[in-house]
Amino acid sequence: MGNERERQDDANTYLCEKTGQRVPRSEPVCPKPEEACKYRSNCIIYAIEEDHVYSVSDNRSFTGCSIVSCGTLRHELEQLRRSGVLDADKVLYAAPGLHEWPNEFEKQVTRKLRAAKEISNRAIVVYGSRCFVDTLNPERTTDSLIQEQEMNAVRVKAANCVDMLASKEERDRIGGEQKVLWLTPGWLRHWDFIFKDWDAAKFNEMYPRHDKAVVLDALGYVDELMAGSPERILEISDKMQLPIESFAISLERLKRLLAAQIAAITS
Ligand code: SF4
Repeated sequence: MGNERERQDDANTYLCEKTGQRVPRSEPVCPKPEEACKYRSNCIIYAIEEDHVYSVSDNRSFTGCSIVSCGTLRHELEQLRRSGVLDADKVLYAAPGLHEWPNEFEKQVTRKLRAAKEISNRAIVVYGSRCFVDTLNPERTTDSLIQEQEMNAVRVKAANCVDMLASKEERDRIGGEQKVLWLTPGWLRHWDFIFKDWDAAKFNEMYPRHDKAVVLDALGYVDELMAGSPERILEISDKMQLPIESFAISLERLKRLLAAQIAAITS
């Protein structure tokens, strides 16, 4: 009897190697999409889920949906709009780097969510799970803020903006053995604003633990900056006490994360 039951489980489910959970074959969804997973490159659940996102996302329109995003990703999202991939009703940006100021995050993102609700029936939120953590109640995170608005909104499944451009597995591959501080072009663009409250002591404490900083650049921004204002890169590099490199990426991951949510929120 027990063996028969196990055989049925094997036939109807896939095993998630990371969590030990069984996932129904009829709806294979990764139980921990925002966490690094050493099994991911060979995982059948993840592969089927990715195929599904590809198949439903190719011609899926974002019409009827607004986007609420962190301002650091403005140029990447505008690139997707120009290419025709992101035909959302409206893309609303809060100020860049609000993870630094949770109270301001709450104020601005709540305001943008309410505006999105006025414009569209649905919204996709382009923030990571830990971009907002309430200082008085650490259980209250980005997802709590979204739920509190009681609207038809979902969040891209990523930990932060860096993770939206390259997954943990991709970053491990790019970084190799080195301890890398990962940045996006938006962090360089808005450096003075994001780090306006940091003094030399805080920079000293935070960054020298890394070997270098790498900018995940789908826009050719670092090359442009190097050509036009190399002293800006040197200035930021001096502050962090780290060499800065760029690594060219595509916007494929960001595109897929958005596509997965438009598929989820319309189905
Ligand atoms: S981690 Fe990135 S996405 Fe999140 S608030 Fe900071 S800059 Fe914005």
